[in-house]
Amino acid sequence: MTDYKLIELPYNKEDLAPGISEQVVEWHHGTHHQGYVDGLNKAEQKLQEQREEEDFSATGSLLNSFTHNFCGNVLHDIFWENMSPEGGGKPEGELMDKIEEEFGSYENWKKEFKAAAGSASGWALLVYIPQRDELHNVAVDRHDEGAVWGAHPILACDVWEHSYYHDYGPKRGDFVDSFFQLIDWTTVQDNFMEISKTFN
Ligand code: MN
Repeated sequence: MTDYKLIELPYNKEDLAPGISEQVVEWHHGTHHQGYVDGLNKAEQKLQEQREEEDFSATGSLLNSFTHNFCGNVLHDIFWENMSPEGGGKPEGELMDKIEEEFGSYENWKKEFKAAAGSASGWALLVYIPQRDELHNVAVDRHDEGAVWGAHPILACDVWEHSYYHDYGPKRGDFVDSFFQLIDWTTVQDNFMEISKTFN
């Protein structure tokens, strides 16, 4: 079993300011995201111990912990990697074509994603569903409640309070507007193409 490790940020922690402050990136990556990585390793280790000891008395809560921390880790990886200090603008190429096909226009997609980010108690996600060759927005509570089976997140916006409250207080919508200015569409396009190629 390979230990999970915290990904390194693809920029300096002060580089996302003013959209996301250095302090928030430091806490969010170094404390919160690290906590999911540590929780995941701990859950995996204890599950393995249960198997070796053939004692499954704590397995139920360990599996819950595995899901929570695994999903938290996956979504934070996507979140950090889909932002850049040079972000903003709009998607291009095949991803833009697909967004226009599915949502009518980029502006429509953006409004729907912002609504998802406003209602979720966790994450707003743009996902690709290979078996239907469709994009969809998904609003997720915590890291997995409301998740869609068979869907692969290609863009993730963290709307847990630790993500924005220090910088924006209750004005979550202002944070989401700043997030749009930080989206690295090249990475989102790469995620889309990679999943598309793997499944289609
Ligand atoms: Mn978070």
